[in-house]
Amino acid sequence: MGGGVMSKPLLFPMIRRQVLELLNNYVRAPEILQHVDTYIVPPALGHRAGALGGLALAADAVPVPVICTGGFQTASVIRDAITSGSCDAVSAARPLVANNDLVQHFKAGLDRAPKPCTYCNKCLAHVVEHPLGCYEEKRFDSREEMLAQIMSVFSPAPFA
Ligand code: SF4
Repeated sequence: MGGGVMSKPLLFPMIRRQVLELLNNYVRAPEILQHVDTYIVPPALGHRAGALGGLALAADAVPVPVICTGGFQTASVIRDAITSGSCDAVSAARPLVANNDLVQHFKAGLDRAPKPCTYCNKCLAHVVEHPLGCYEEKRFDSREEMLAQIMSVFSPAPFA
């Protein structure tokens, strides 16, 4: 059991009770029916549970650097992922399409860009036929502003 639940020990007895009630003896596994207190437990990795916990296990198991993908665009989250030892580096694609100056925002002390990527994936839908860029109009004051940012990759022109 992970997520926010793990930091609320009072919830565990309720969850165990509810699980047993819902199972209604349908599953006859002794580890659940007789030892539910040791079956439904907080994660041994604590706050490193979930995706980062999985990464930490992978990092311990393989002798190569582990790079985690997954829309990283928050400095504190990136810092936690790396300093906790969950992975050696993170990668980002859509957040950098949305904010190609993301590291400058971090450098200026912001935890996130003022207009972060919404993960809408419209850039992926457009990339087949259109220039790579952010097509989420909600991030811009106007459609013209959005198109100007998309087309900015052609400026300056690569060939004089
Ligand atoms: S189109 Fe959507 S997913 Fe792609 S960069 Fe813009 S906000 Fe992010």
